[in-house]
Formats: sequence, C-alpha cells, structure tokens
Amino acid sequence: MQYEAVIGLEIHAQLLTDSKAFCGCSTRFGAPPNTQVCPVCLGMPGVLPVLNKRAVEFAIKMAFATNCEINPKSVFSRKNYFYPDLPKGYQISQYDEPLTKSGYIDIDVNGTKKRIGITRIHMEEDAGKLLHGETYEDSDYSFVDLNRAAVPLIEIVSEPDMRSSDEAVEYLKALRDILVYLEICDGNMEEGSFRCDANVSVRPIGEKKLGTKAELKNINSFRFIQRAIEYEIKRQIEVIEEGGRIIQETRLFDSDKGITISMRSKEEAHDYRYFPEPDLLPLEIDAEWIDEIRRNLPELPAQKRERFVNEYGIPQYDADVLTSSKALANYYEGCVKFYNKPKVISNWVMGELLRLLKEGGRDISQSSSFKIQPEALAKLLNMIDSSAISSKIAKEVLEEMYKTGKDPDAVVKEKGVVQISDEDTLIKAIDDVLSKNPKEVSDYKEGREKLFGFFVGQVMKATKGQANPQVLNKLLKERLSK
Ligand code: ADP
Ligand code: MG
Ligand code: ZN
Repeated sequence: MQYEAVIGLEIHAQLLTDSKAFCGCSTRFGAPPNTQVCPVCLGMPGVLPVLNKRAVEFAIKMAFATNCEINPKSVFSRKNYFYPDLPKGYQISQYDEPLTKSGYIDIDVNGTKKRIGITRIHMEEDAGKLLHGETYEDSDYSFVDLNRAAVPLIEIVSEPDMRSSDEAVEYLKALRDILVYLEICDGNMEEGSFRCDANVSVRPIGEKKLGTKAELKNINSFRFIQRAIEYEIKRQIEVIEEGGRIIQETRLFDSDKGITISMRSKEEAHDYRYFPEPDLLPLEIDAEWIDEIRRNLPELPAQKRERFVNEYGIPQYDADVLTSSKALANYYEGCVKFYNKPKVISNWVMGELLRLLKEGGRDISQSSSFKIQPEALAKLLNMIDSSAISSKIAKEVLEEMYKTGKDPDAVVKEKGVVQISDEDTLIKAIDDVLSKNPKEVSDYKEGREKLFGFFVGQVMKATKGQANPQVLNKLLKERLSK
C-alpha cells in the first residue's frame, strides 16, 4: 500500500506593534519579567480592553498579501481555559467570525509551483510565559512572566493542502517572508514571535477522505519542523501497517531524540466554551480605511523577484537569492544605483558577500554589524573595471572592507595591492622568471605550450598577484616569441 501525507499548518505571528492588543503596555522583547504589565493585561476584574488599531491594520495587510477576503464585521470571543500564564482565565480571540478568510499563497517547491489555501486569519492575544526550574532561595520553582500577555497575534490557518515536509517548510518560509516584508512581524522563531503547529495525517493514495490527524505543537525552527513532520508521517504509516489506528492527539517534538511524543489525546482535549467578548464591540471596518491600507501595501517577495528578473535581467535563481530577505534586496538595489552591471553585482553579493556574512555570523540589516555601503562596493567593482586591481585582489580588499568598514581606496593603499600595469616593471619581472627557468623556456619553444600558464603563475607569484593579467599575457607572449 502506498500512502500520502496530508499537512495543514496553524501559524502564530506576533505583530510588531509598540503596544499590546488591548492596553498601552510595551511589547518590547527581553525586558525584566513583569515590568510591562498593567491591570488590563493582567486581567484584573472590572478593567476594559481597548482594541489596538495598528494591530488591526497589520492583520488587514496580511490578508491582502495572502489573497484573503476581509470581513467588514468580525467578532472577538473569549476562549476559556485555565493556565498559569493566563491570569484572566480566557484568551481574547476570534472564533466563528474571524477578520479574514478564504485566501491562498503560491509556493515554489523544487521548481514546481503549488497553491496552498488559507482557511482564515484571525486576531488574538498572546499568553504569558512560564519559566520552569528557576532557582529561588535554593529551591526549584516555576515562575510566570506576563510581559508577553496580550501581545497581539494573528493566527494563520492553512487548508490541509500540503503533501510533504518540503511543501510545509516552503509554505512556512513564504509566509514568514511575507510577514517580514510587510514589517508586521519580525519572524523570529527562536524568540517565539513566529510559531507553528503542524497537523499531520496520512491516507492511502487515491483515498479522498482525510485520515485522523495528530497536531505537533510549537516547534521552533524550520529544520525541526521538517524533521518532526517526517518522523510523524513515518510513525503513522507504521502504526497503520501494523494494523493499528491513529488517534487524534497533540504531540510534542523531542529535538534531541528526533521523535514526537504524545502530550494529550482528544479525550482530554479542551472545550473552550467560546462566547462573544462582552467588553469589545464587534469589529466593523471602514471600507475607505481598508482601501487606504491596500494602496500603501509594500512590494511583496514574489513581486520583487519578478521585478528583479525583468528590470535587472538577472536569472531567476539570482532573484530568488537576492530577495530572500528585504534587507538583502534593498542592499542589492542600492548597489545597482551606483554601478550599472546588475549581474556582476549579483555575482559579488551572492558569492563573496553572502559567504563573508555567513562566516562572520553578521546581519546585513544591521549597520552596526555590516559596514560595506553600496557605494563602497560599487567603487571596488569600478576599480576592477579600470584595471586598478585584479578581481582576485578585489576579493581580499572586500574582506578587509567587511572587517573594518574602510573605503576600498584606503584598503588598496594600505595593502599596497594596486595592480601593476606598467610595462617596464612587468617586463623586468617576466625576464627574471624566464632567466631562472631556461629548461621550461626551451621546452615551451619546442611546442609545450601548456607551460605558458606556468610562467604566468611565476610572474604572479613574484608580483604578489598584482600583475595586470591582460598586460602580463601580452608581454609574456612577446618575450617568449623572441
Ligand atoms: P482543530 O479543530 O482540531 O483545530 P481544524 O479543522 O481547525 O482542527 O484544523 C486545524 C488545522 O489542521 C488546519 O490547518 C487544517 O488544515 C488541518 N487539518 C485538519 N484536518 C486535517 C487532517 N485530517 N490532516 C492534516 N491536517 C488537517
Ligand atoms: Mg486548531
Ligand atoms: Zn497592559
């Protein structure tokens, strides 16, 4: 029997608003515990929530970017459950009337386009955070930090349209790109501002009915999501092959062991007793405002990729790499403004720059860690064009620029690596090499033309790589034909 996997993702994205969903407290990450709280987000009795307009605007932006319908009227509900990180005893969320629904995004999986449906995007608030096993007066305790309580979230629920872990990861990456491009979420999985639950089931190929799903909770990296889904697919197929049945349950991924473990089954599943939030009016959105948000939508990753191919004439592959982050795309475009050979820049950015960034663990979006201005890179490339330096030397200069943030002129001067194009100097170096290698010279003259490369190499060595290759070639030929 052949099986296929069915995967649907539920994604929580923290919105980058300055203040929380229903009060004025700051949402800044990393503040000392419980310093960004007030009676509203602590859920004290008698307080009244006031909806953050910015959060609604961000959710609407995401709706446009994912081709969703926007409901002119949506409703906030209370989702009731008890947990220590939720002092109110309920989470304000949206239930049967979410802000947006019925959208899709197109993803590219190993060169094949695929459309993934989005069931709904609704607004809700985050819960606090539990810190387990912390020590206090020499004992182990669990603590609760409510700074995160009521930070605005959107939950993006997909249709069960994915068929492999590759598709799930591509979908997830595409959604994160969109959120980051829109500047409505920082997409940081480690800090938990972008989180994913994966629903996984399997069924015999050809079967229309969905199999029973397991929900894999809160996995915090793309690699772990891939591994968790792959493990889960294998596990479910094995259970069925052995004559067993899949039970609907929530499972946790153990990243050390690479396996998923049952957390709770459906019998213990919550009944949240949703009811409309009495303290918030239904959310009615002005058509004009929606229109204004649409008009101000920034360029999205897919549009940018297409434009890069058309406008700069670079290959699709280059466009994919260069738009992989907004900061990188902006940097590339900045360089093109100063140096009008888009493919040459693309090669340097994708090759040297990305290598340096990766090795140095630096971030192109942060001026404190990445100091090569587009103008400086353009200057460097112009120096190659004018034969002031060779492209081999340019790589070394770039590395120095990367380390120190210095101008290419300054680096070239300091290192004394200006390219030698002066014929007299080169002839001297060539003659020196030829007189030291009489055997090779006579072999060459008898027809071993391959030795030409050997002479080039020797002169390059003698000039510390500074000889201008074109001039060197020309002169060497002349000298050898004598
Ligand atoms: P629940 O009520 O358990 O949260 P939903 O119907 O709301 O289930 O679906 C939650 C997520 O699970 C959605 O992303 C959906 O696409 C996905 N999903 C639903 N049924 C299946 C299934 N049989 N296999 C895989 N994913 C599924
Ligand atoms: Mg669910
Ligand atoms: Zn507050």
